Amino acid sequence: NLRRDFVANVSHELRTPITAIKGAVETLLAGANENPQDSQRFLEIANRQSDRLNAIIEDLLALSRLERDAESAGIELAEESLLPILESVVQCCATAAETKNVQLRLFCTKELTACVNSPLLEQAIVNLVDNAIKYSDAQETVSIEGWQNGNQVFIKVQDRGHGIPKDHLPRLFERFYRVDAARSRAIGGTGLGLAIVKHIIQAHNGEVTVHSALGVGSVFTIILPVS
Ligand code: ADP
Repeated sequence: NLRRDFVANVSHELRTPITAIKGAVETLLAGANENPQDSQRFLEIANRQSDRLNAIIEDLLALSRLERDAESAGIELAEESLLPILESVVQCCATAAETKNVQLRLFCTKELTACVNSPLLEQAIVNLVDNAIKYSDAQETVSIEGWQNGNQVFIKVQDRGHGIPKDHLPRLFERFYRVDAARSRAIGGTGLGLAIVKHIIQAHNGEVTVHSALGVGSVFTIILPVS
């Protein structure tokens, strides 16, 4: 049943941008290309929607690679210092943060280490920070914090943005689950970001939690075991 639902969801998600691209191209062919302004407008629609298709397919491929690796030998893990990974996340998200006038803050000691797959963990944290920026307003702060407590390492991404209504939290990490689908699509979301985070953290034998309140903000915490 899950697989059938997933195929139906993927088809639905792909159909939306394809319908928009086809509509734009048909309008151009029907004569809109003769007017430079119309032409520009419909080409921009086709371009934006192709980017969207691409983003969905990239995310689906990332998920299927993760599933394949988890089923076979598992992902490769090594003891790594976390500060460089978190610094790289900040670098990756700096442009998006500047564009939205959101401040990124990083708190982590250089001694903190964990058993991780660096590129995958970085991707998971980028997804969380990217969301935190997307769902914040200008002038707000997104903080990224790493620390160890006993035999667990915590990586927390906190925003003071829109927050998520409580009844959505249990399903938030499901593929294509969104609180507001139209808004997510409008800001370039695929609805797969958190599903990817969950898979990556599971492959690290860890867990990811969310606490959120409407109008107050959200806190996503990755918890990794210390071997
Ligand atoms: P999307 O591509 O839509 O962002 P995700 O899987 O990353 O997909 O997130 C799923 C949904 O969770 C989003 O559509 C959004 O409604 C909600 N969400 C995720 N992170 C946040 C956040 N930091 N603040 C508010 N809502 C969030």
